Amino acid sequence: MTSNADLRARFQAAFMPNYGVPPVALVRGEGARVWDADGTEYLDLIAGIAVSSLGHAHPALARAVAAQAATLAHTSNLFVNEPAVRLAERLVELAGGGARVFLSNSGTEANEAALKIAIKYGKTHGRRFFVATENGFHGRTLGALSLTGKTSIREPFGPYALDVRFVPYGDADALRAYVNDDCAAVFLEPTQGEAGVVPPPHGYLAEARDICDLTGTLLVADEIQSAIGRTGAWFAFQHEDVRPDLLTLAKGLGGGLPVGACLAFGDHGAILAKGDHGSTFGGNPVAAAAALAVLDTIEAEGLLAHATAVGDVLAEGLNDVDHPLLAGVRGRGLWRGLVLADAVAPAVEAAARDAGFLVNAVQPGAIRLAPPLILSPEQARSFTAALPSVLDAAQKAS
Ligand SMILES: *Cc1c(COP(=O)(O)O)cnc(C)c1O
Repeated sequence: MTSNADLRARFQAAFMPNYGVPPVALVRGEGARVWDADGTEYLDLIAGIAVSSLGHAHPALARAVAAQAATLAHTSNLFVNEPAVRLAERLVELAGGGARVFLSNSGTEANEAALKIAIKYGKTHGRRFFVATENGFHGRTLGALSLTGKTSIREPFGPYALDVRFVPYGDADALRAYVNDDCAAVFLEPTQGEAGVVPPPHGYLAEARDICDLTGTLLVADEIQSAIGRTGAWFAFQHEDVRPDLLTLAKGLGGGLPVGACLAFGDHGAILAKGDHGSTFGGNPVAAAAALAVLDTIEAEGLLAHATAVGDVLAEGLNDVDHPLLAGVRGRGLWRGLVLADAVAPAVEAAARDAGFLVNAVQPGAIRLAPPLILSPEQARSFTAALPSVLDAAQKAS
């Protein structure tokens, strides 16, 4: 059998260096567990970056994908396909009705669609600039990248065509100071994911909504990471009783298949006219069937309540850990950031992997947990029980 070492060497030779060389090769999964090429088993607490919402090899997802691939794998948007129509209808219903949908293949493309809507809205109403947040992340294509506040990934590829002004995240006064009648749209994550699972102060989204309403600015909620049960709700904005004008989704929606969506509420749903936008693969029937299986399974298995309950078990276990390296825990549901006292997250990630847990060093001083929504309370407890020795090992290694 091909080993981790063998696959890593071939990866390094065949791929561009943009990802570095990942530490192990994964070959198989079942539920919240995965196995690498050397046969080592791990508890997966990152789920392919908040993507594998039903865990690995879920029969409902596998059946839906296989059946659709064996029936009709692709149509393009020259033709209607029913799985895509059902998915769009379902997303609108879950989001509270009164919206229209554009389906994409990824998160960044969902944001590109939102940005094109916002640009067109801005041109129609004489609004010239955009507001986004410091340390925010909206994707790697050039439009989404120009909205991305994380300077280490934005600045090497600038300057950008759009006038984007960045404000500190979670600061409603800063939003009030920047957003005016010349602003086309505000792009926000309900909790910043790539920044290290950073929630805003309570009431921030409602204030952002008010500021946008007062100035006629579009509020765009980038829920690419936060939606589809991750925080215990279908959408994180539902915790705050706030509705955005545009909503973008991807990651957990397809349960591992590439699918994203942009929803636009009310009249904004008709801003993109015929010919304004498109995607060859967007709304692909196999991806749509996968997303429908994810949504149906979350409902049938009660995974929103489950994510809340197991998220609480995880948070309690983490809060009980008394270790000098663990300075705090942030987040909600099955989406948590462990704040470290030192910038040793890569060492913690490696020590966790040595102990059989896949976690993500999302920032130099923060670990991200985004396990499958099917994680059991016992699995959550197994990690919190092992964490003190993982942190000891990380301290020793660094
Ligand atoms: C991951 C992510 C994106 C980009 O999604 P891709 O599918 O990688 O293009 C955009 N916004 C947020 C909030 C994300 O977490």
